[in-house]
Amino acid sequence: MNEPRRITLDGWDDRYASLRASGMTEPSYGGPLRRHVDDGDLRLRKLSFDDSPAALRLWNFLLTEEDRLRQARSEGRLLVGAMKDLGTVPVMAYALDNLVAFYPDGAWWIPCLMEHSAGLLDVADAMGVGESFCPVRAMLGAFVTETRFPLPDLLTCSVGATCDDFSAIAQRLSGLGFPILWWEIPHRRRPEPDEEAVRLPGGATAPACQVDFVKSELTRVKEALETLAGRPLNDATLADGIRRANEARRCLDELRTLNFTARRSTMPALEMQIAEMLIIHFCSDQSEAIAILKDLLAESRRRAEASTSHLSEDAVRVFWVNPVADLRMMNLLEDCGGRLCGTDYLFTHAVDPIPEDVAPMEALARSALADPMVGPSSDRAERICRDVRRFGAEAVVISRIPGASHCAAEGPIIASAVQSQLGIPVVELEVPPILDATAPALRTRLQALIETVREAATPWPSSPRPPQTCE
Ligand code: SF4
Repeated sequence: MNEPRRITLDGWDDRYASLRASGMTEPSYGGPLRRHVDDGDLRLRKLSFDDSPAALRLWNFLLTEEDRLRQARSEGRLLVGAMKDLGTVPVMAYALDNLVAFYPDGAWWIPCLMEHSAGLLDVADAMGVGESFCPVRAMLGAFVTETRFPLPDLLTCSVGATCDDFSAIAQRLSGLGFPILWWEIPHRRRPEPDEEAVRLPGGATAPACQVDFVKSELTRVKEALETLAGRPLNDATLADGIRRANEARRCLDELRTLNFTARRSTMPALEMQIAEMLIIHFCSDQSEAIAILKDLLAESRRRAEASTSHLSEDAVRVFWVNPVADLRMMNLLEDCGGRLCGTDYLFTHAVDPIPEDVAPMEALARSALADPMVGPSSDRAERICRDVRRFGAEAVVISRIPGASHCAAEGPIIASAVQSQLGIPVVELEVPPILDATAPALRTRLQALIETVREAATPWPSSPRPPQTCE
């Protein structure tokens, strides 16, 4: 087996021709990556990609979602825009075979992918939603211009324990006349000693009364989905939907575990981030998303068995907190000598399997309440520390999201928990939607982190080891 490589877009031109010549077959959305640049995804010119057919399929799937949504509508299926819950409402929608759920918040990455050429942030600016908001403000531009995704037949949004950014932007959408079905998720609290407690996926607990409340809110969403679909969403149908969602989640879990714990990395950090993003709403095609995750897993297994990798064995194992606004950052991590070894991209509740041993609505309520963003930051920090241990990471990067209302407060809480419980280096850095201007500074900080880990691993000849720092 050849050593896998990360290759540029130019490299993919040749690789694609050679794979086609050797008989590679592709799904209907396949084709050379280069064509997406012609469609406006200019950022691809600055990225480097895994060179496997599985990665090609992943990228083509990701970059054709808008076509897929239009096709679904033309075939009579109905579109559900599921805002902010990051993984719960789509499970319900995909249980009904004439509904397709998508994630309008995914517009978050359009300024990066299109290198600002879509002008969505300018539209948001003109509407008074400027740089003090996180990149999700691009979603406002996408709704108003109607140039990115078709307007959904039903738009849902979770409120309550929701970040200020999203709440303000969703309210602005509502004010503009976009009808929204709001459902409330309360701030998750720890049960009082005399309260019945429920264990949630991922390890946190919540009072049973909060689970019951979320169940009643999700029941309203279920009724709206039934009305839209014109058919009932009974427990048996919903349980089937949960089983399919869990098939995707288990496959992703296996892929992550293999990649993060293998002696050599089995898949680049960039493709791993895209694979994780599929789990939120299956990129508008659940069956295909599962097939792609299985493909990536099969490729990773082959590489692990053959001990081949795009990275050397001494790459430093880095746990990554928060998604990056510029995908190029994941290339930069590896360019600086790191490898991905665990992640918390704000949606760990969509990665953990949904319970299958309780009634479906109860299971979905528990899953929704496990959202790391609806509970205390200390819960999130505990989960991160557990996962750092589980995957054997040697350092943590907390990637701040520009404008995000939660980042300033939670970063120090997570950093302090990691340092006090694990004593490994942590760095906080901010990644803008296009990082080119700050690339030298980001590179320097990542290199300092990597060197700090390597230095700590090198036997210290005489005097005591100096304190670890990566600043
Ligand atoms: S502030 Fe954070 S949680 Fe809120 S929309 Fe932005 S990235 Fe998502």
